[in-house]
Amino acid sequence: MVRKIIVKTILNKHRRDSWFLDDYSLNPYEACAFNCVFCYIRGSKYGRNMQKSLSVKVNACRLLEKEISVRMKREEYGFIIISSSTEAWQRIEEKYKLTRRMLKIIARYKFPVHVLTKSTLVLRDLDVLKEIDRNAFIPQDLRGRINHGVFMTFSLSTLDEHVSKIFEPNAPTPAERLEAMKECRKKGFLTGVAYIPVLPFISDSYEELDEMIKTAKEFGAHYVFVGALTLFGACKEIYTAVLKKHFPELLPKYRRLFRIFNQPSK
Ligand code: SF4
Repeated sequence: MVRKIIVKTILNKHRRDSWFLDDYSLNPYEACAFNCVFCYIRGSKYGRNMQKSLSVKVNACRLLEKEISVRMKREEYGFIIISSSTEAWQRIEEKYKLTRRMLKIIARYKFPVHVLTKSTLVLRDLDVLKEIDRNAFIPQDLRGRINHGVFMTFSLSTLDEHVSKIFEPNAPTPAERLEAMKECRKKGFLTGVAYIPVLPFISDSYEELDEMIKTAKEFGAHYVFVGALTLFGACKEIYTAVLKKHFPELLPKYRRLFRIFNQPSK
């Protein structure tokens, strides 16, 4: 049973992210049914059972209309990342179409978008995303450097289907995500891969890094972000339990790696 919640704000402004270039974040849902073991939002209140905590922000469209119109009047254009702490195209989106409705609002106000997804359902919305890609106002300081109103970034942590099933149990397979990216590239989008998080001792060998970058290129990626695993709170406990079950030989290495910090040191 999906919870319905009322939220106070929806378009969250933050300091620009130097990788994804987003000035705003937008999360239509709370928590996430893809239930990735390494998901950093497990470190928050949704931690243990993200499927159970899954909620629809039922007043999201009304709020977005209000908040984005204020930003537009002030000419505060900036990339909106969809999504930073949920999957905007998870299965319930088929029913609620909340992300699609929000994209239509964004298209009307001509804000640019950075899509960050593991889902093939995003292909359903390429028509609206194309409109945004063509018409969005790029922030003043990025004009001339970026000539697309949409980035389409597909998130992958491994190319190995078996490993993916362990760590990203409800997400589409890596091959399905790559095919979706290829489709976006064919439609003329700026496309890329977020190889985040790279899983220590599981998907982080030089060969795997090479293979990921080579494969991403083959499937049409213009860029690849590579980022480390962060483990804290419930996320650390759940990840450790999964290691214990599937990769027990790695436990001492992880203990050393995450003994002091939440991330492996550089
Ligand atoms: S898809 Fe993203 S938000 Fe959802 S569980 Fe996985 S990492 Fe977390």
